[in-house]
Amino acid sequence: MDTYEMIINGKNVGNNLEKIHVTNPANNEPIAEVPYGGKNEAVSAADAAYQSWTDWSERSAYERSELIRKWYELINENKEDIALSMTLEQGKPLKEARGEIDYANGFISWYAEEAKRVYGEIIPASTTSKRIFVQKQAVGVVAVITPWNFPAAMITRKVAPALAAGCTVVIKPAEQTPITAIKLVKLAKEAGIPDGVINVIVGDAKEIGETWNADTRIRKLTFTGSTPVGKLLMKGAANNVKRVSLELGGHAPVIILGDCDIDKAVNGVIQAKFRNAGQTCVCANRIYVDETIQEEFTAKLIEKVRELKVDQGVNESTDIGPLIDRVAIDKVDSHVKDAVEKGATIEVGGNRIEGLFYEPTILSNVSDDMICMKEETFGPILPISPFKDVDEAITRANDSDFGLASYVFTENITKGIKIIDKLEYGIVGLNDGLPSTPQAPFGGYKQSGLGREGGHHGMDEYLEVKYISLGL
Ligand code: NAP
Repeated sequence: MDTYEMIINGKNVGNNLEKIHVTNPANNEPIAEVPYGGKNEAVSAADAAYQSWTDWSERSAYERSELIRKWYELINENKEDIALSMTLEQGKPLKEARGEIDYANGFISWYAEEAKRVYGEIIPASTTSKRIFVQKQAVGVVAVITPWNFPAAMITRKVAPALAAGCTVVIKPAEQTPITAIKLVKLAKEAGIPDGVINVIVGDAKEIGETWNADTRIRKLTFTGSTPVGKLLMKGAANNVKRVSLELGGHAPVIILGDCDIDKAVNGVIQAKFRNAGQTCVCANRIYVDETIQEEFTAKLIEKVRELKVDQGVNESTDIGPLIDRVAIDKVDSHVKDAVEKGATIEVGGNRIEGLFYEPTILSNVSDDMICMKEETFGPILPISPFKDVDEAITRANDSDFGLASYVFTENITKGIKIIDKLEYGIVGLNDGLPSTPQAPFGGYKQSGLGREGGHHGMDEYLEVKYISLGL
């Protein structure tokens, strides 16, 4: 079995610590072991990141850009290896793991360029005897805490802009998927990114989070994960008025109008729902379809869902891999059971498969009191509910504490834009089931988070604004 170590200040560390197994969710077999740390490692990582910050932030943007670009190239060269590790530790189909590496690396490539475009401003003063300048500077050391569902992209989406801005980072990946993270950080070292600029540790999440939150040298915390943990970290960050970015849970509605291109809508829904076995924060979680096309839409969707192949992610033909763990599969099953008890019909699927697999499932005759219509399921089930009037669909779509992604399918763009104006969501896919991309701002309204990742908005999260008043 392979052993991986943490990386602090460019050194492999943790050999002396207790080890935990990383397990393949497809067959429950251990695939590697990693050391399990806590407060000591959190402090050492913060020391290294703080000590390397001045040097890194004082390098020219061009130099940082070149090193980040080199990192991108090495990840490309090692794509197959990292993708396989990702599939083994996380479960997603290999073709999706490759796709995630491309997506993750897209952030590195984009921010390598953006490093050179951190512009300031000159603002007209109210008197001729003054000049007003605005410049942007790196926030400082950034703590990065990430979930298991996108083991590479959730890291690069934060680390690439942080590095481009001149920040240094300490990373704690999810306990279930540390290998991808460690491999990425190893390649950063190989690319020539100086020791201490990127550090990665594995261990007790609560202890590490509290240690980093209490450390005033860490100026920002960026977190992707569940809303309850996000709230906890935000409270901890408040003690030192640490800057926070939060990418939290979702509960994405899909509104399908009677004038849509039904095939396009079906394909969009398949993309938005079943990628990563339904374990994405932007997953279509509930469908509202115009009652005039409900039958045809549902029939076509069922046909496509029947074609999805559930199997181990390492098989090239797999569409849906295992869920991450027993808790996840129990949650999916409980959502289906609750819906059926309250009168839902299972159109397809609805069963566990041995191990951590679950059949892709479509539910009809659903009502808004069912758990699956109120909470993020994070699994391959999709409830479909008809509507008569589009305003009713918008009200139901907005009736949630979450506001991350939403989807609208219509061939009438004017209608589509009017619906978008009313949706309380940070992301809208209009005739698009896959809106995420490195150059666009990703993030949510309401309890889905704070801040944006991607694009120039994502860069601002790692920059302080300094205003200089010059008296002449
Ligand atoms: P999670 O339980 O909140 O875990 C996320 C990370 O936080 C993991 O690294 C975890 O470490 C760590 N953590 C757990 N408790 C902590 C604590 N008390 N203090 C500090 N860190 C702590 O979330 P998850 O189940 O892994 O991820 C699924 C959630 O993430 C879903 O709600 C999904 O919607 C959301 N998500 C959001 C986005 C977005 O962009 N908005 C993207 C992806 C996922 P351990 O693994 O060691 O427990």
